[in-house]
Amino acid sequence: MIQKDYYQILDISRNASSDEIKKAYRKLAIKYHPDKNLDNKKKAEEKFKEAAEAYEVLSNHEKRQLYDKYGHSGIKNSSSGSSGMNMEDIFANFGDIFADAFGDSFSNFGFGRSNSHQSIKGSNLRIRVKLSLEEIANGVEKKVKVKRLKVASGVKFKNCVSCNGSGQIIRITNTILGRMQTSSHCHICSGTGKNIENKPRGSNQLGLIKEEELVNIKIPAGITEGIQLKVTGKGNQAPFGGISGDLIVLIEEKPHSILKREGHNLHYDLYISFPDAILGSLKEIPTINGKARIKIDSGTQSGKTLRLKNKGLPNIDGYGRGSLFIHVNVWTPKKINEEQKEFFEKIKQDKNFIPHPKNSEKSFFDRVREMFS
Ligand SMILES: [Zn+2]
Repeated sequence: MIQKDYYQILDISRNASSDEIKKAYRKLAIKYHPDKNLDNKKKAEEKFKEAAEAYEVLSNHEKRQLYDKYGHSGIKNSSSGSSGMNMEDIFANFGDIFADAFGDSFSNFGFGRSNSHQSIKGSNLRIRVKLSLEEIANGVEKKVKVKRLKVASGVKFKNCVSCNGSGQIIRITNTILGRMQTSSHCHICSGTGKNIENKPRGSNQLGLIKEEELVNIKIPAGITEGIQLKVTGKGNQAPFGGISGDLIVLIEEKPHSILKREGHNLHYDLYISFPDAILGSLKEIPTINGKARIKIDSGTQSGKTLRLKNKGLPNIDGYGRGSLFIHVNVWTPKKINEEQKEFFEKIKQDKNFIPHPKNSEKSFFDRVREMFS
């Protein structure tokens, strides 16, 4: 039997580019698709296989060279002559051709672009970490117990038999457009291409086991409630050597007993006595890192705000610190004795005790404005 020339079969010139070869084959493959030639199925199938054989050789650089030099005898001994191929093989090997021909609207069919099996990523874990204001001010390293899925020791896995390790099941189906190759997720191995061979006690179907681990979390100074930190790779491990998930840390802030936070500034309410407001005094103030002394001037008005620079919280980017604002309140006793009552009745008449604010005494609103500028 005399074999036809491959270039003639595909109707291309001897120096056709690989693109031209592909196009020519695609055209013939669609034309002679057996399911589109129902009245002459046998003949069409023959033509179809013929084209596939020609394409198989000419699309392969080495085989094409051999064919160009020695003709059919040059490739006879190679095991992959298409004459031995059945239709399924042809679809499996050249499925991409059809994918290109039909475009994306047929992407659901898969067309056998199947060798990239899914590499599984472990799932993320989430935890909350509550921090005191002191921890936020200084930054802290927290050791947190996390229950992670880990690959059990002694676990062994092998390639999935049902999909041959590809993670995809390839099927040939008949559709209106003809026979098509579809590929779907392998359910036996969940698309991983691997199955457990030896499952250690206590591990799940993927050879994972839940274990408690102490994870070190570095928390930068100046962090804010609601921020999420990510500890890469400390989520659940993935089976079959995949990438571990991450540990997501949600920051919560415990309220401080006396200091109030506002961004990177802190606020403190100071109560002073009537005599201290009149005579002035030195006061010890709690700060986020120890104590500070401040001077209360004589004649201090209630509502005055003092500012201690750099006694607030550090900025999270590491540059600069906020302030500590001290709000002065003059403490007015609710009950006084007779002697005190007499004393205050007496000085009440004194002109000096009648309020006469000057322009220089800023109002509450002015002070607030000044504080935030
Ligand atoms: Zn499988």
